[in-house]
Amino acid sequence: MPDKVINQIAAGEVIQRPSSIVKELLENSIDAGADSIQLKIKKSGKELVQIIDNGKGMHENDAKICFQKHTTSKIQTTEDIMNITTMGFRGEALASIASIASVEMKTKSEDDDVGTEIYIDNSEIKKIKKIATKNGTSISVKNLFFNIPARKNFLKSDKIEMKHILEVFIQIAISNNNITFKLTNNEKVVFNIEKTNFKQRIIQVFGQRYNKKLFPIKEKTSIVEVSGFLGNPIDSKKTRGEQFLYVNNRYIKSGYLNHAIKHAMEGLITNDQHPSYFIFLNISPSLIDINIHPNKTEVKFEDEKAIYQILKATCKRSIGMYNIIPSLDFSTEQSFEIPVHIQQSTPKEPKIKINKNFNPFQEKEYKDNLRHKENTNNFDTLFEENTLSIVKEVINIDKLYAMCTIITNNQVNVSLIDKKRAMQRINYEKNSTKIKNRKITSQRIIKPYTIDLTVLDLDLVDEYKQQIVSLGYSIEKMTNKKLIINAIPSGLKIGDLKEFFELFIEEIKKNNTNIKDRLISETAKQITYNQTTHINMNSISNEHSLKSMIKELLNCTNPFISIDGNPCMINIEPVNIFNAYKHV
Ligand code: ADP
Ligand code: MG
Repeated sequence: MPDKVINQIAAGEVIQRPSSIVKELLENSIDAGADSIQLKIKKSGKELVQIIDNGKGMHENDAKICFQKHTTSKIQTTEDIMNITTMGFRGEALASIASIASVEMKTKSEDDDVGTEIYIDNSEIKKIKKIATKNGTSISVKNLFFNIPARKNFLKSDKIEMKHILEVFIQIAISNNNITFKLTNNEKVVFNIEKTNFKQRIIQVFGQRYNKKLFPIKEKTSIVEVSGFLGNPIDSKKTRGEQFLYVNNRYIKSGYLNHAIKHAMEGLITNDQHPSYFIFLNISPSLIDINIHPNKTEVKFEDEKAIYQILKATCKRSIGMYNIIPSLDFSTEQSFEIPVHIQQSTPKEPKIKINKNFNPFQEKEYKDNLRHKENTNNFDTLFEENTLSIVKEVINIDKLYAMCTIITNNQVNVSLIDKKRAMQRINYEKNSTKIKNRKITSQRIIKPYTIDLTVLDLDLVDEYKQQIVSLGYSIEKMTNKKLIINAIPSGLKIGDLKEFFELFIEEIKKNNTNIKDRLISETAKQITYNQTTHINMNSISNEHSLKSMIKELLNCTNPFISIDGNPCMINIEPVNIFNAYKHV
């Protein structure tokens, strides 16, 4: 096969649309050490993609060969492959682009007095000359897919292609806050962002409303370093929102790790919500393989399970420390749009309620496998101690709701409470503590309950017998594929059992590491539902009963979300109309 054809085939993998060119060119400029990058787009890249950088540029010789396949300045030896720190390394991007478009490049290395201008068409150098130009590189890509009509026809509308370009641009801009970027489309400025810190970069890209919404996360272990920000879980979107995960500064997609983050927010977001995050994983290049996908957006980790656990625990710890809670702001239409922490008087040193004892690592099995840094609570010094909350006025609203003022650290919060959900939350936490401490009584069933299971499932249940028994169940394995249940935790109903055991078996099969916790929470949840279905909410409506309910709620580890993931208490942000309260 002639080189041209080989390149065209490779191009199909690397360059699918204008945004792929944008990605490759941006990455090259970053690899060249540029700290200012300008991207000019015309007709969403169908007419022009041009990049201008102030990176290290190329000598004439390099400029001549960089459009040939496998020309990379980034890898020389096999060991280099195990130690990749640059964005590119395969040496096929420029070759691919040159095989499916017309390319014009001007480049000058700072060691040279003159630069090089080069025209490439259909993978061939058409013209090359010396020119006077600035240090750095400018590459223009025109006539995209001129020689592959099928691909050209496959391109979507300008709007959609631009959306892809923006996605790529933002992914890269977020992780390169030390670079100034300017993006124009059809000569209109889309982004013009200066160098700044990481948090400000997120705000530059997504807007000021992110200012209050980001919670830092940080963890360093022997295998990975995690840093970045979590969006307030309550702000999570129904459509996949701002989810940015990077490995060694490379944007990647990972359903598995996304799940870890989502899992950390269990109880704070509903199942159909997607958390926002901007997370960086730093890991030795020898422990990952980024070469599994032509676009390099997928990564294979040597120990993916450990990364999952560390990521989840790190997120959980941050959520615990910052006491992230939902809140309602009258200035927005959607109730759960704007989150606040319980208070924030000066932006630099937020007085956030933190739980110093919060330690998600406590119950983790992987603790043995990893040598965690001794002092994981290095945020402590930055924040004030949690002080007591006092419930002041309460008002009953109808059968289902109550409103109250709560004073914490001299700050008044007005909260709206769903009474039934609050009662469920309170009872649930009591029930799960009871089960955990083996304080739950076991109730004999007069006529033992039988569940038919497959031999395999029966063995699975048997394997976890000890744990099941510790929750207040008494079970017996029969040889004829039957499981006999003689006793259940009091408060549970026989009717709940079948579903419970099905769920339980499913959990074991999924290899969930926290089966016991899940068992406890599911059992406690079901008992709570049974207890609260018949509570008459009218019986909790006078000041005394309401206050004691709210106090109990505030003592819960998670007072804001009901056990089925809905809000059960929302803070109303003290905006203007409540200013009067601020001086109480
Ligand atoms: P890779 O990035 O995988 O090395 P590319 O095809 O993207 O391969 O680029 C080929 C080579 O061209 C790079 O290794 C680099 O030496 C050079 N190069 C590309 N773009 C630039 C740039 N903007 N500034 C300086 N050198 C560049
Ligand atoms: Mg490259």
